[in-house]
Amino acid sequence: MNDLYYRFDFSEINLKDKLEQDDFLILFLNHIELNYPLISYKLKTGIHFLNLNIKDVALLDLIYDWMTVYNAIYDLYMDSGDYEFWALKELENINSSINVLGLKLSNLLNNYAETYYYLFRGIDRELPKKCPLCNKDFNALEGSHICKKCKIIMEEW
Ligand SMILES: [Zn+2]
Repeated sequence: MNDLYYRFDFSEINLKDKLEQDDFLILFLNHIELNYPLISYKLKTGIHFLNLNIKDVALLDLIYDWMTVYNAIYDLYMDSGDYEFWALKELENINSSINVLGLKLSNLLNNYAETYYYLFRGIDRELPKKCPLCNKDFNALEGSHICKKCKIIMEEW
């Protein structure tokens, strides 16, 4: 496996404190590390929700809401027969409510540090060559595809 979860070490850091130059954050959640919504791309380290160091309570609330709902949908994708396909579509569709919220959040987080939104893709689903928002070609980055304009990141499997 080559996905983000297996490549990253989830020890804790504070937002901004240890971010290196030209590093960026990824808003990303998986079913194991539930409370680490952000990852430093360069340090390969997840940041715990409680260590985000964000003073804006409304923004923290939004992160918490996104985390909770995203995780609930992810759970449906992982564990349920009947809702699995529905959940996959929600996670993959850039226009679903959860992704619209995630993109909004990611945009707000850019005030703290450059942040990309991780767009989920089911196993064995083809990686699109173009960004689903602006329809321009993705840029390749170490096994990932990113759109710098829309701040979206997707992964090769
Ligand atoms: Zn784009």
